[in-house]
Amino acid sequence: MQDNSLYDMENSLLEDALDADPQADRILEGLNESQHEAVSSELRNMLIIAGAGTGKTRVLVSRIAWLIKHFHIAPRNIMAVTFTNKAATEMRERLALMVGNSVQMSLWANTFHSICLRLLRAYASYAGLIPGFTILDTDSQVSLVKRLMKDMNIDTKEFKPSDIASNISKQKENGIRALAFSKMISAKSPDYVKVTSQVYNVYERVCNQENSVDFSELLLRTVELLENNQEIRELQHRRFKEILVDEFQDTNAIQYRFLRLIAGPDSHVLVVGDDDQSIYGWRGADVSNMRKFLKDFSNVKEVLLALNYRSTQKILDVANTIIGFNSDRLMEKVLKGNFGEGEKVRILNCANNKTESSAVSERIASLHESGVAYRDIAILYRNNYLSLDFEQTLLRKHIPFVIYGGQKFFERAEILDAIAYMRILVNEDDDTALLRIINTPSRKIGPKVVDGLRTIANERNCSLIKAMRLLEAHVHSDNVDKTLASLYKKVAVFCDLLKVLKEKKESLSLSAFADEMLRITGLYQFYQEKDFKEGKDNEEHSRYANLGMLISNIKEFESNSTAPAVSDESAPESTADSDEKKEEDPLLTYLSNITLVSTGELNEDGETASGTDAVNLMTMHSSKGLEFKYVFLVGFEKDILPSRMCAFSDKSLAEERRLAYVGVTRAKTALYISYSQNRSLFGKVEATGASSFLRELVREYKGKHDVPLTIESISSASYY
Ligand code: ATP
Ligand code: MG
Repeated sequence: MQDNSLYDMENSLLEDALDADPQADRILEGLNESQHEAVSSELRNMLIIAGAGTGKTRVLVSRIAWLIKHFHIAPRNIMAVTFTNKAATEMRERLALMVGNSVQMSLWANTFHSICLRLLRAYASYAGLIPGFTILDTDSQVSLVKRLMKDMNIDTKEFKPSDIASNISKQKENGIRALAFSKMISAKSPDYVKVTSQVYNVYERVCNQENSVDFSELLLRTVELLENNQEIRELQHRRFKEILVDEFQDTNAIQYRFLRLIAGPDSHVLVVGDDDQSIYGWRGADVSNMRKFLKDFSNVKEVLLALNYRSTQKILDVANTIIGFNSDRLMEKVLKGNFGEGEKVRILNCANNKTESSAVSERIASLHESGVAYRDIAILYRNNYLSLDFEQTLLRKHIPFVIYGGQKFFERAEILDAIAYMRILVNEDDDTALLRIINTPSRKIGPKVVDGLRTIANERNCSLIKAMRLLEAHVHSDNVDKTLASLYKKVAVFCDLLKVLKEKKESLSLSAFADEMLRITGLYQFYQEKDFKEGKDNEEHSRYANLGMLISNIKEFESNSTAPAVSDESAPESTADSDEKKEEDPLLTYLSNITLVSTGELNEDGETASGTDAVNLMTMHSSKGLEFKYVFLVGFEKDILPSRMCAFSDKSLAEERRLAYVGVTRAKTALYISYSQNRSLFGKVEATGASSFLRELVREYKGKHDVPLTIESISSASYY
């Protein structure tokens, strides 16, 4: 007979030993009372709503560590959603330090898009896709829409393909399929809506044929997969016990729907956000999801974090005043700092944009002389085009800098060409990719030949590559049609090239294959000659050099990818069929990774992290969630911030103010806000002047004693 008391004692000793994990308690060290409460809360749904720099992200990461160390929840049962891939990588790295390296492999910490892609890869056939499906980046999406519009004889000057493509995406983000959308159209609908509906119908069909999904499709298809397949849904419910979402204020309708579906009856969801930092409304983000969360999830514990750990008080005073002008806030939050008053915020009133960039660069140089590292400095602006003056001046002064998002490495023509070759090698149905490179570099495959191929593909309802194969089979048959034979003659060289590429892909490592691919397709030579003709062959960022950067990028991916970052190495078992469980093709994983990293996260060389000591240049949108000791908010000007297009609607104006608030709250030690009185834009000099946000800020302090800012005028004579 078992001695129960002994058994119980052993059990409780075991539990004590587990609970007393000394590392668990260390997770709570240094947290303030509200942070402590959130991190160590019992397992339940939670909403943390708090202002900038109050430690929301830190709490979220600590909570994951607590779940693992204190509640002994396996990392594979946790899903953490971040706003960017970079934030996800940082989160995994921080967690590895807190709870050990194993977390890197099994924790799902990623953006909504990457998480949905992982699920779709694991359950492709259940979601109506063929394993190996490719992702349509924005550029390819627009070129596909343009091609379809041309086929449909729709005027692409009157209706811009990029607008139609983004209208289609908007519908998807609201969960509306082409058929449902067409039912919403009436005779009275505006023309562009009618055109969107027409194109959407065909676009949906062609994407299916080409076995490719665009960004919003990743979400919509996953939502449909979970909605329509109870078994898969319940499998996820059993797997994802704890779900945590950062930057929740910027989730859109379809992401919220996904969240509701992925969370099972026994799962717990923790969301953290700041309604004052909702800056993606223009892209469909809906801050009211924060309110909805309280209603839709049961027994939600609300936690407020009040203390800011990032900035000095004067910076926070300015932030509080700026955001105080918004009337539609969920709740008023006044940021209170922890690091003393600090220096006054310096406003630089500059004569023109040249003076502005010189003044900013000069201050950066003297900060550096006084011992500040370049990497602790950021220049933030409303729009990418504003970086140019700063780039030139920094270059002149030999100040190193990195630009994030500006030059869009993965959107350069030469890179897109290389990627298109890779795409057709993983997905033969991807006609959009094929059409991009069938004649790049030129192989004398003109529009007539392409039309001939398309006719066969349409008749046989197959992809262009399959059409070429049919042609090939035909010319080797007995009864050869002359026209078809001459068509085949034109494309034979391309067919052979594809065969060679396929063989190389199987026999070489990914980077060696890519290098070989650029050589045998002729892309290296083509772009080298182009650079030479344009006199750019010696430039650091020549097209040829960019292709070289692509190879370096692939090498870096290879060395980092002990485990594929996006594919599901530990996919929930059972319903995924054997095909889907196969180890993923590294080329496919690489393609998925680069397509999902948004350009705002990359520097001009296509890298996400910079180990070098360099000043950071990026848009205010891209700076969300980040912090720097010294921040220069430049071009804080009329018609720029708020943007000219947003100034007339209260809703957009409020969002622009939140953007200014995000910018201001990135600074830890010192903040500079600069603007120009005159700006030369597109060859014309325009009178500009301070942003209305700056005017209302300064007005607020008029006649007051304790003013947190100081204004400095910089004349053009100061520098020229
Ligand atoms: P944002 O709204 O910009 O996303 P956040 O609320 O997520 O900001 P964090 O980035 O988590 O804030 O924290 C801001 C800074 O404060 C970080 O440097 C973080 O390490 C630090 N911090 C947070 N909590 C504490 C604490 N209890 N003690 C010391 N530093 C802290
Ligand atoms: Mg954060």
